[in-house]
Amino acid sequence: SDARIPALRTNDELSHLINEFNAMLDRIQRFIDQQTDFVGDVSHELRTPVAILEGHLNLLNRWGKDDPEVLDESLKASLQEVSRMKSLIQEMLDLTRADQVETQFVNAVTEVNEVVEQVTNDMQMIHPDFTITLEDELPGPTWVQFYRNHMEQVLIILVDNAVKYSRDRKEIHVSVGSSDDSVDLAVQDFGEGIAPQNQDRVFNRFYRVDKARSREKGGNGLGLSIAKQLIDGYHGTIGVESVQGSGSIFRISLPKLTEKQVAEYQRRQEA
Ligand code: ADP
Repeated sequence: SDARIPALRTNDELSHLINEFNAMLDRIQRFIDQQTDFVGDVSHELRTPVAILEGHLNLLNRWGKDDPEVLDESLKASLQEVSRMKSLIQEMLDLTRADQVETQFVNAVTEVNEVVEQVTNDMQMIHPDFTITLEDELPGPTWVQFYRNHMEQVLIILVDNAVKYSRDRKEIHVSVGSSDDSVDLAVQDFGEGIAPQNQDRVFNRFYRVDKARSREKGGNGLGLSIAKQLIDGYHGTIGVESVQGSGSIFRISLPKLTEKQVAEYQRRQEA
């Protein structure tokens, strides 16, 4: 049903008010639709692990007491499904929180070089069979308005994906540069790449180019939507350039804080 008020023919203040009101209703309706979609997606995503879990519990119930092999395998598989659901729930929470970032309330300034160095080193340690390098850094300390742990989270999502969707060439290049008013981060891999028609979709909730492959790698299709939600909240942009079969570059651009803004922030912190 349409709750909107019919437009008036006259062009006065009342018409203006009605238009504003209707636009507001449209925004609310869009929001409700998104929430409804989300609940539907979540239920759908939970169905598979719950069905697998149920299957294994049935096996255990029937044969688990007598057959040590069934016991062993089904317990292992059940635990794996539970841990998958746990990470799905964690990622949904992250997504909801990322949704709530409102830059105007964020009182946090982060130096970019330091975060990028730290994440690159950490990820190299976690993935010793990869070569993860910091190709380019900013010439001096450069600040953006961003919670440090949010920035780490975004970079980890991108590097994790670069690892997950790699092929023979196990190399990942991280870099950070800047223009007059932006800080530009990039994470490049030489893996499977993304076909042009899928490049926008990878930022959608639960979207995966290859569901089975992502699942096998422990993916839920939420990583990039969390990253995008965070970047949007801080008024940045995120995008991908990719050639199928030869690799992808994910690029982030964030508004650069002026030295004056940083000084003001530091003064406030000391006060
Ligand atoms: P997940 O990796 O958990 O499936 P993401 O939201 O992080 O979820 O990514 C969504 C999809 O985008 C992935 O399933 C994969 O198909 C594709 N993708 C993401 N990063 C890359 C990459 N670096 N190279 C190729 N494909 C990628």
